[in-house]
Amino acid sequence: MESADVGRAISPEPSRSAQTTFSAKEEPPEGLLPQGLLKSGLRHARVASSLGERMLYSRDQSEIPNFLKQILFDPTPEAVVQAESAEGVLDVLRFALQTGISVIPRGAGSSPFGGSMPVRGGIVLDMSRMDKVIGIDKAARTATVQAGVRWADLDHELGKKGLTLMTCPSSKFSTVGGWVSTGGIGLNSFSRGHLMRNVLSLEIATPGSGVVRLTQADKDFQLVFGSEGQLGVVTSVTLQVRPVPERSRPRLVMFPDHASALSFAEDAAVAVKPVHIFFESALRVSYTNKMLDAPRITPGDAVIVYIEDEPSQKAFDELIASNHLKEEPEYLARYVWNERFFPMKIRRFGPGMLGLEIVASKGSLRDIISSISTRSVELDLAPMFEVHMLPGDEALMLCFFMTDQGNTLLFTLDAFKSLLLTRLAVDMGARPYSVGIWNHAFSDVAEKGRKDAMHKLKTVYDPRGVMNPGKYFRLSGRFGPVSGLMMEPKLMGPVLKAILRLSPLTFPILHRATEFARERLEPKSRPMDLRVADECAMCGACVGVCPAYLAVGDERVTARGKMLTAKAMAAGDRITKEHAHRTFLCMRCKACEQVCQSKLELIPFYEELERRLEQIHGRDAQEIERFVRFSESSPEYDALVERGLVIGAPKHRGGGGQGAV
Ligand SMILES: Cc1cc2nc3c(=O)[nH]c(=O)nc-3n(C[C@H](O)[C@H](O)[C@H](O)COP(=O)(O)OP(=O)(O)OC[C@H]3O[C@@H](n4cnc5c(N)ncnc54)[C@H](O)[C@@H]3O)c2cc1C
Ligand code: SF4
Ligand code: SF4
Repeated sequence: MESADVGRAISPEPSRSAQTTFSAKEEPPEGLLPQGLLKSGLRHARVASSLGERMLYSRDQSEIPNFLKQILFDPTPEAVVQAESAEGVLDVLRFALQTGISVIPRGAGSSPFGGSMPVRGGIVLDMSRMDKVIGIDKAARTATVQAGVRWADLDHELGKKGLTLMTCPSSKFSTVGGWVSTGGIGLNSFSRGHLMRNVLSLEIATPGSGVVRLTQADKDFQLVFGSEGQLGVVTSVTLQVRPVPERSRPRLVMFPDHASALSFAEDAAVAVKPVHIFFESALRVSYTNKMLDAPRITPGDAVIVYIEDEPSQKAFDELIASNHLKEEPEYLARYVWNERFFPMKIRRFGPGMLGLEIVASKGSLRDIISSISTRSVELDLAPMFEVHMLPGDEALMLCFFMTDQGNTLLFTLDAFKSLLLTRLAVDMGARPYSVGIWNHAFSDVAEKGRKDAMHKLKTVYDPRGVMNPGKYFRLSGRFGPVSGLMMEPKLMGPVLKAILRLSPLTFPILHRATEFARERLEPKSRPMDLRVADECAMCGACVGVCPAYLAVGDERVTARGKMLTAKAMAAGDRITKEHAHRTFLCMRCKACEQVCQSKLELIPFYEELERRLEQIHGRDAQEIERFVRFSESSPEYDALVERGLVIGAPKHRGGGGQGAV
């Protein structure tokens, strides 16, 4: 372990130059904290202070009923800092140490557990602009990156050298540092294991010990994984990478029930030794069929086995022959495998999706799935499951169900039901995958030894407790610890248990409330832009590919930002002229549509939103013109064109019309 004083970074890193940032019309700085930050001599960082921009950082991917969030927490940060170098990060931490202001690290904001959401103001430290690949060593098969690099961008750079990732989340648009700090279980985890097995070293900037470099040999190394921003800010990571496989083929087999599918998955894990293996329940498959032009996959529970070598292909052939199984055609197997990067596509059928993510022993999964399925029927839910096999005895299980997030009561009830189902799984021996805010009721199930060790390390790395406070160890919020009481494991745990135990009495009440919400509170017809905003998964996949965002650095120009603008307008919030004018900074390039998780048709939504904003604030044609010229000549834009992401390549965008490019 090496450590450096606060104020000195170990790795010299490049930072974004002024020429690559478009200076949109200034917004007056709001609040004392941003001004204090600016005066403190902050290096290599952009400070966002307007309410419109800070509002975007008051949430992550999760859809929690807004009223609940606002009652319990104060989720809007007082300032947002987009760091562009480790020096900038250290400057923010030094400021926090002096003032006691909290710092909430954030990557792409794609996690659904509330880990990057402030509970009581403070500074959100947006790491997604620290997005440089520092170096790739082809011979050693390693890559060193700034923590804000998105997995997809890293994989693209690796591909140029014939290399690829060992593992990544299916949210390939999330950041390396974000995944280090949360989950770590994703694609290829069956063969490559948890992310921590594939990271060789990392640097973490801490308020108490400066920049600390940890390698696999250090005892504290593994504590950083899943630490959810409690210890410090991960600034750079060195990963093991591998050559692109010469041949690969996913195989798809269907089963009449989940028990036989999971048995086969376990047999295949031993006999075939594939790169990855996962299960999808019949309802999940039926949604995939719904998205195809015709139902093509044989109905049933699916096992997908992803293989990269010839002996494993042969072993798979033998396994299905000896079990007298029929395999689905290769094109369907490839379709399902490729859809792994779009797990939220089906969300728009809700519109809205809720669920739970747990880690459990392989042996307990059949019973957990059966129990959740039975209880879900009683709770008016239709659950679908996904299971990713891990090395050893464990597996990651995801359970989702559709909901309508436009119906506040129904949505609140369904969110509560997901807590009940998590409790059910936890009582059967599972543990929550991540904690954040929304799984805090189950934080007592986290490995005890690990939590104690993390707490001990926190007293060294973060002696003043400024890192992401009010989470993980003890939840607090707008009213201090009182806000967190509701989710305290000692309180919420027994409440959930009692509701489950008294289900003959409690479930009919939930059922009647659900019926009432569905029948009486069905949302009236929603305007087009709000309907689209409800269908949006808020995942952030559209942010990193948006040339406007890469030029301006303000998320309000992105699809996710515009969704939140539409929601704010619907809630009656005032949108300032500067905010509106940022919304017009759009190339109409459709890169956002190409990567959209919910497969939304976004351009008509932009047209409608812009039309409504233009009626209030007019449109600054000159600024739009200046922006288009700037963006078109930027290296970031060229890189997007090279990657085939920009399909509606803009020629020229004038003002006043329908936003035609
Ligand atoms: C479509 C979709 C698919 C997904 N698939 C997977 C999957 O396969 N596996 C999986 O595990 N998860 C998955 N997720 C959840 C989520 O995308 C991942 O956990 C992701 O890695 C989070 O990264 P992020 O950059 O978005 O972090 P954020 O959501 O911004 O932050 C997550 C947590 O990490 C902390 N943090 C972020 N950056 C840093 C940093 N640099 N230093 C210190 N702390 C930091 C934050 O404070 C917060 O507590 C998926 C989500 C979506 C929407
Ligand atoms: S069309 Fe292009 S510039 Fe506009 S929001 Fe989508 S990705 Fe960004
Ligand atoms: S517009 Fe699409 S990609 Fe962007 S946040 Fe919404 S669902 Fe995700």
